[in-house]
Amino acid sequence: MDIKKNDELIIEINDIGQQGEGIGKHDGYTLFVNNATVGDKVRVKVMKAKKNYGYARLVEVIEPSPFRVEPICKIANKCGGCNIMHLDYKQQLKYKHDKVINCLERIGKFDLSKVEVSPIIGMEKPYYYRNKVQLPVGKNKEGHIVMGFYARRTHSIINMEECYIQSEVNSQIFEIVRRFLEKYKVSIYDEINHKGLVRHIMTRVGFTTGQVMVCLVINGKKLPHEDKLVEELIKVDGMTSISLNFNLENTNVIMGEGVRTIWGEDFIIDYIGDVKYQISPKSFYQVNPIQTKVIYETALSYADLKGDETVWDLYCGIGTISLFMAQKAKKVYGVEIVEDAILDARRNARINDINNAEFYVGAAEEILPRKYKEDSVYADVIVVDPPRKGCEESLLDTIVSMEPKRFVYVSCDPATLARDLGYMAERGYEIKKVQAVDQFPHTTHVECVALIQRESI
Ligand code: SAH
Repeated sequence: MDIKKNDELIIEINDIGQQGEGIGKHDGYTLFVNNATVGDKVRVKVMKAKKNYGYARLVEVIEPSPFRVEPICKIANKCGGCNIMHLDYKQQLKYKHDKVINCLERIGKFDLSKVEVSPIIGMEKPYYYRNKVQLPVGKNKEGHIVMGFYARRTHSIINMEECYIQSEVNSQIFEIVRRFLEKYKVSIYDEINHKGLVRHIMTRVGFTTGQVMVCLVINGKKLPHEDKLVEELIKVDGMTSISLNFNLENTNVIMGEGVRTIWGEDFIIDYIGDVKYQISPKSFYQVNPIQTKVIYETALSYADLKGDETVWDLYCGIGTISLFMAQKAKKVYGVEIVEDAILDARRNARINDINNAEFYVGAAEEILPRKYKEDSVYADVIVVDPPRKGCEESLLDTIVSMEPKRFVYVSCDPATLARDLGYMAERGYEIKKVQAVDQFPHTTHVECVALIQRESI
């Protein structure tokens, strides 16, 4: 049967797509359905039909999935933040674990029967886990101030009064800022005509210290009545740093270059394990510190350091994994492409009295091959933590030539992980251990750590 626009069909949902949408088949034809989930039997209306797949709208849930739950959040279906909150948390974990396995088997062509695959580590309390949020500020049709994530695939703001995945203190901060903006009639940035002042609000909380940071991003250099805003914000428990960030560009990039602290410190402090971090408004820092610690501890145990090893940490960001490993290794070298992050990494080494970590700015696929060719650098352990697109082949080739005893791959995308490990497998390496970790409950993201060694080891 040819499937056309406006056809109504009954299908069963048996998978979840990248955006959290349900995926089902009708006579082999794949349909993507928003707000449907694994195990649902649904009636759908086809909105767009391509040759082999199409997009359909949910008309009716005929038999709800046994895994379907009522989301705790009342804007879950509209807000672009959480996209699988309607799926039971245990089932979310199963879905993520299976996704990692499937990628390794299908894309990496691995036989996992000899690999130590541990069950995914989820969160005991999968709520209020984010330590950072940045929200666009806008106005609704009635002219009231709104702050929230954009609705999926749009630039219209879904107002957020309460959010179950961010720090609880944020509701109080948003309310103060909203009231301040309304009371003093501060203008709000309009991205279409590039006029108005307030663009975004960013908040950050140090989970181990309770220190709170608020930064308002403005299209200008001055915030009228800023002292009145400070007066209210310092009533919030833990308030440590209040700042303005200046972004006068016509761009989707949230933060501009300049920052001015209008009250308190220039940064907040947080710890992951025993390592201390100074976090300024523009620093990169892991957003779920509880699960980050789980990932780093897994990476550390896979690295199996005894104290005399040389470690290379590629894609090191602000040096978080490097500093974690430096406590147990002889020497750690970190490589990262963003210069500001390396400045943070060096400062973080200093404030922790870590003297055996050295950092280089540059692309991992340029620095490591060059250092290997020119200086014959050596590694007992190599760790990579690349962005979603994974590693370049030229980097993997260098790693193969360097013959590290252990190669630890921290990944935020199991598909590119599987591709890269498949490439290593063709060159004599095999996977020994895999551990998936849920860093972002209620979203489709999954992180994992893998240990790879030469076949003979
Ligand atoms: N390991 C760090 C950060 C991982 S995020 C942590 O745990 O906090 C991935 C990092 O890779 C980002 O900081 C990004 O700036 C960096 N990056 C992206 N492409 C890169 C490349 N080609 N070479 C080196 N670093 C790169």
